[in-house]
Amino acid sequence: MTLESTPATPDAGTKAPRPRKVPRIVVLGGGYVGFYAALRLRRRLGRRDAAIVVVDPRSYMTYQPFLPEAAAGSLEPRHVVVSHRRELRGVDVLTGRVTGVTHAERKVRIAPVEGEQYEITYDHLVVALGSVARTLPIPGLAEQAMGFKQVEEAIALRNHVLTKLDVAASTWDKALRRRMLTFTFVGGGFAGIEAIAEVEDMARNALRYYDGIDAEDLRFVMIEGSDRILPELGEEMGGYTLEQLRRRNIEVYLSTFLSSCVDGHVVTSTGVEFDSDTIVWTAGVKANPVLGSTDLPLDPQGRVRALPTLQVAHEDGTVVDGAWTAGDCAAVPDLANPGRMCSPSAQHAVRQARHLGDNLAKHLRSAAVSDYEHKHVGTVASLGLYKGVAQVYGVKLRGFPAWFMHRTYHMAQMPTFNRKVRIVLDWTLALLFRRELVALGRLHDPRADFRDASAPRPKGATQPADKGAKAAGGARTPVGS
Ligand SMILES: Cc1cc2nc3c(=O)[nH]c(=O)nc-3n(C[C@H](O)[C@H](O)[C@H](O)COP(=O)(O)OP(=O)(O)OC[C@H]3O[C@@H](n4cnc5c(N)ncnc54)[C@H](O)[C@@H]3O)c2cc1C
Repeated sequence: MTLESTPATPDAGTKAPRPRKVPRIVVLGGGYVGFYAALRLRRRLGRRDAAIVVVDPRSYMTYQPFLPEAAAGSLEPRHVVVSHRRELRGVDVLTGRVTGVTHAERKVRIAPVEGEQYEITYDHLVVALGSVARTLPIPGLAEQAMGFKQVEEAIALRNHVLTKLDVAASTWDKALRRRMLTFTFVGGGFAGIEAIAEVEDMARNALRYYDGIDAEDLRFVMIEGSDRILPELGEEMGGYTLEQLRRRNIEVYLSTFLSSCVDGHVVTSTGVEFDSDTIVWTAGVKANPVLGSTDLPLDPQGRVRALPTLQVAHEDGTVVDGAWTAGDCAAVPDLANPGRMCSPSAQHAVRQARHLGDNLAKHLRSAAVSDYEHKHVGTVASLGLYKGVAQVYGVKLRGFPAWFMHRTYHMAQMPTFNRKVRIVLDWTLALLFRRELVALGRLHDPRADFRDASAPRPKGATQPADKGAKAAGGARTPVGS
């Protein structure tokens, strides 16, 4: 790895950092903000103006609005991510997790995937660490549920749901079947509603290949704590979405909280109880907790305090020199809605990232920086193939036009020409040949077969494959059938 005119990592602990020929900008996180800010900075600043480093445990940026379609098989999951190394030309990419920042000493601590932690120094820091799922100490949640923020989770959910259909279709035990065919989502915001609607659409579509499963056997349940879903869309369109989901027999429990899900037994605050092998947690996000291991000023919600210029600032408004932030991890005043902070959305993240890049480049050239201001354009959501809901510039759309707008808008927003083309090809192929419905459940344990084949077998023992099927609760033959 080259860090341009700077020494390569690590910056050898206690040794004073060597003077640099060009300032080093370290971008923490390579998601929406990190990726777009690094691109913008590289475009605005030549290699002689600044060295840019992006640190992220993943080597790609994830276009999260496409995760529901990736989970539903309408898009190939690889096409909803963008490679850092391929697209961030002239930027050094470090694959590792930031574990702390001492801004007073301009030092970032990084844990690589393997090996010892190390520190790198910087002149300017861009904090773009995003958010994590906001979980609660609900019994069974950590053991049973999965999140829906990463592409790996979208892949796992799809494989899991299709595998449940496969296994349920080969099972005679009614209670077990019911449990396997009950899919529970908690949190009726954007991510949760799009996820349940897309996955339900896929599962119903898949039933044509499962003679043993009837449409009534599938049970999709949404648990939402407030008295409405999709609050971003307003009462009317949220109400429309609710009606559409209920028409599709998706059970939506409003003003209801998940109380427990130990061993997959779901209990709600309103006394509803059922068994479910699938629990997806989409009940909101909170700022990345690693920010607690920095000396940057945080607000009561744990977000980095920022000025509208996207410079980090103390509570009294004084600028923290050399620190910038944007996106889900930042508390940025929303100048279009005085008194409020910008919402955690891709719409703000992309625009803030570009603005941050411009401002930081101006700052390095001793030019004046400007405030970030963006009036929310609206919201588009997909509810399955040909179904959607949208409110853009005050115009309300339902059904096919909303779905079409969702696809057009996100395709336009998807970074890189390469990815745009692949996404359009995926959609076209899915229309021509129907979406892909193969469950690659074994993907999550690729060494299983080899391990079984390599295991020493005592004389007279059953085949390992048979043992595996029984242990997994696979196909069962009822006694006497
Ligand atoms: C399913 C889903 C659908 C969505 N749909 C929409 C939509 O339709 N419209 C919309 O406006 N918004 C949508 N959003 C929200 C939007 O995606 C986020 O607001 C946006 O991604 C925020 O960008 P960010 O850069 O702040 O965070 P992220 O894009 O999450 O990036 C954070 C980055 O930090 C990295 N990171 C985390 N911890 C560390 C660490 N310790 N060290 C180094 N790096 C770290 C992560 O790997 C990640 O790459 C959706 C979100 C989800 C989950």
